[in-house]
Amino acid sequence: MSGVLVFGELTDGHLSGTTAELIALGKQLGESVAVALFGGNMAGAADEAAAYGADRVHLVEDPLLVDGQKDAIIAAFDSLCREVSPDIVLIGKTPLGLDVGPRLAFRLHAGLAQDCVSLEMRDGKLVATRSVYGGNALATVGFPEQGPRIAIVRGKVYEPLAPDASQTAEIVKFEPKLDSSVIKAKTVQVVKRESQGVRLDDADVVVSGGRGLGGPDPFAQLQELASLLKGAVGASRAACDAGWLDHSYQVGLTGKTVTPNLYIAVGISGASQHMAGCSGAKNIVAINKDENANIFKEARYGVVGDWKGVLSSFIETVRELTKS
Ligand SMILES: Cc1cc2nc3c(=O)[nH]c(=O)nc-3n(C[C@H](O)[C@H](O)[C@H](O)COP(=O)(O)OP(=O)(O)OC[C@H]3O[C@@H](n4cnc5c(N)ncnc54)[C@H](O)[C@@H]3O)c2cc1C
Repeated sequence: MSGVLVFGELTDGHLSGTTAELIALGKQLGESVAVALFGGNMAGAADEAAAYGADRVHLVEDPLLVDGQKDAIIAAFDSLCREVSPDIVLIGKTPLGLDVGPRLAFRLHAGLAQDCVSLEMRDGKLVATRSVYGGNALATVGFPEQGPRIAIVRGKVYEPLAPDASQTAEIVKFEPKLDSSVIKAKTVQVVKRESQGVRLDDADVVVSGGRGLGGPDPFAQLQELASLLKGAVGASRAACDAGWLDHSYQVGLTGKTVTPNLYIAVGISGASQHMAGCSGAKNIVAINKDENANIFKEARYGVVGDWKGVLSSFIETVRELTKS
């Protein structure tokens, strides 16, 4: 085989949104697109991959893969790549993808581009645009001629194709026959954090707070506003580093990328590393007491003022408007 091979990931047994985005990207690159899925009971996810446009699905099965050990997944993906020789390997910028990409590239002696915000074919060659210098610049990079070209792609920069349940894909089983010695480090426990309401990654409205809030307590007001707007709360890294919110709420270069319709930034300066995670929002509204704050260059609407004076009346107005 040649073409594009997508490293497939599941969320709660379903094809992850990132995987669907990578299938759409693979299609744009003009190649046939295959998806690799790891573990067992993947028939449903394989159908979803087909619905999102995959031409082929590799069901990678081995007893060592059932409990999601990273070392086993990487060894299995390495074997699959050697078997099918893809031209391009697409991996999502997820916690697992960030581990898989560099280790796979090392094993295959292949070129790797991290944190890609776009990929395109120019004169038959793959060219990646990457975010560099902490999101302050974009670099355009090519790949070596030899080996597959491996790209780790940021989430939410490509839209998945509209799913079509009538589409089918060729299903190919692959058994890598792993030896238990491939597992050098083992995940012994996975602790799931309970979350309520809309997931930050999927929210249509995000209300984010930064260092300007001055402490953890004001986030209760942000949550109130987010709930009224059926949205989710986010935060800047400064707020998360201060321990006001868990890092799973962080938006930005080293946090989550969100693309809501409405992004409300409260007490956030708008550093490039923060904007890297929210500049895809359709409308940014900023509340900041510094009229020269960078966030106002990116915001469609802005209020210059102390959030303490602005937010409560804003919440009241939204409450009134959403009553009916
Ligand atoms: C490699 C790297 C990766 C990074 N990744 C991320 C990332 O993923 N996400 C991220 O957010 N940052 C990231 N950062 C950090 C980033 O550079 C900024 O330091 C951070 O975003 C600042 O957070 P902030 O806007 O909350 O704080 P500040 O920059 O301190 O801004 C606080 C703002 O609040 C305003 N303010 C203060 N009081 C009030 C008030 N009472 N009412 C209204 N406004 C008020 C101030 O005018 C100011 O504009 C990264 C940095 C590096 C180097």
